[in-house]
Amino acid sequence: MTQRLIELLLLVVLASAWGWVHESAGWAVAGAVLGAVLWSFLDAVRARRLLKWLNTADTAQTPKLSGMWVEIFERSRKVIKKLEKKTQSSNARLDNFLAAIQESPNGVILLDSAGRIEWVNLTAAHQLGFDPQKDVGQHIQNLVRSPVFKSYLLGTDFNGEILIGGIGVRPSLPSKISVKVHPYGKKRKLMLTRDVTAVELAETMRRDFVANVSHEIRTPLTVLSGFVETLQNIPVNETDRNLYLGMMSQQAKRMQMLVSDLLTLSRLEGSPAPGQGEWNTSDDLLAPALQETQALSAVIAHPPHEITQATASTFMVSGSKSELHSAMSNLLSNAVRYTPGGGSIRSGWRLRPDGWAEFFVEDSGPGIAAEHLPRLTERFYRVDRSRSRETGGTGLGLAIVKHVAQRHGGQLEVTSTVGKGSTFSIALPPSRVQQINPITPALPALSENAQG
Ligand code: ADP
Repeated sequence: MTQRLIELLLLVVLASAWGWVHESAGWAVAGAVLGAVLWSFLDAVRARRLLKWLNTADTAQTPKLSGMWVEIFERSRKVIKKLEKKTQSSNARLDNFLAAIQESPNGVILLDSAGRIEWVNLTAAHQLGFDPQKDVGQHIQNLVRSPVFKSYLLGTDFNGEILIGGIGVRPSLPSKISVKVHPYGKKRKLMLTRDVTAVELAETMRRDFVANVSHEIRTPLTVLSGFVETLQNIPVNETDRNLYLGMMSQQAKRMQMLVSDLLTLSRLEGSPAPGQGEWNTSDDLLAPALQETQALSAVIAHPPHEITQATASTFMVSGSKSELHSAMSNLLSNAVRYTPGGGSIRSGWRLRPDGWAEFFVEDSGPGIAAEHLPRLTERFYRVDRSRSRETGGTGLGLAIVKHVAQRHGGQLEVTSTVGKGSTFSIALPPSRVQQINPITPALPALSENAQG
């Protein structure tokens, strides 16, 4: 400040001295005024330079200044640098925060007080079909057209969450998105979205499963209790009594089989996959299963089937012996149960050229139409319902086989021609196969129509 005063006085004195020297006292006053004006002009020029610099606030540049303006400039530069640092660290923190929300498996949308999108993470954009850049600033109601969503958003009760349709893998398969709104700040809203398609599907499957099991159990139970009532209330002769008891025992067995298959399935789902440890020869696996099949055919088929063992080579297979036995028996018993008496059944293990091994069962039964093939391994799915029931089927056999195959790293494959017969195979990967005799010739693989 003192410097500025000295500067001003110096200029005024010099200008008035100049006026005095040249003319008179009047000129001296005029000189002093002129000096003051000149000083103000120069000062204004400096102030303008500083203002110009402040407009850009580029701390790398230094405007041409002098006197007190240099001090103002230096202090301003320091404050600006401090603010810049603060802004940088706030921005970095905001970037980190947004990057973390971006990675969230849930969708996050920030809405302003008018319901316009302020920010949306990629998950939410993907779930609801938004453009994370272009749709910022759009009213969310223009993008999510569901009436349920509209009334939820415009309402005041955000305690619960709602379900709306999202962008699915295919237009015919829209996803189910759960939406929950959390109001915050001044009428702003945080909207969280979650893809619950799988959860909903699992819930539907669970409901269907419970309904199916109840249905399967209700029928034999009704029959059983009907006979019990009859025997309790009506006097029946010995022959009828034996007949009723026979039917009751049949229904009880049916329920037993159902419970046993259900337990097998839940064991398969709940236990870890079998390791590589247990190695069995393909013959050791096949022999008991074929013996059971022959016995079953002798009991239920008239005349019995022509059952042939079609093994070209013996090799080692690793996996759970009991699980593999259960899967093989299921396929063999299906062949017996669905192929009319006198028909032929061929079964064995063989090696494919690609190193995979397969257990196959080929029958000359009725065959299965192509539209049923993809659904065969669904629980309780039956093509021939009455035949399945008549022969004690639970509708769970192929689901068990599929599970066993998958637990061993393999798959269930089916080829079938209506009127000619079917071939079911359990294919196991090379890691589960060891050749006993490496020069054993491999048989060609079957063509694949369906995989379970
Ligand atoms: P189920 O206990 O009813 O036999 P599965 O799961 O074993 O149940 O089989 C599902 C359905 O697939 C059966 O109900 C039957 O209609 C059909 N199926 C299975 N194996 C054969 C086969 N070898 N020939 C014809 N149809 C079959």
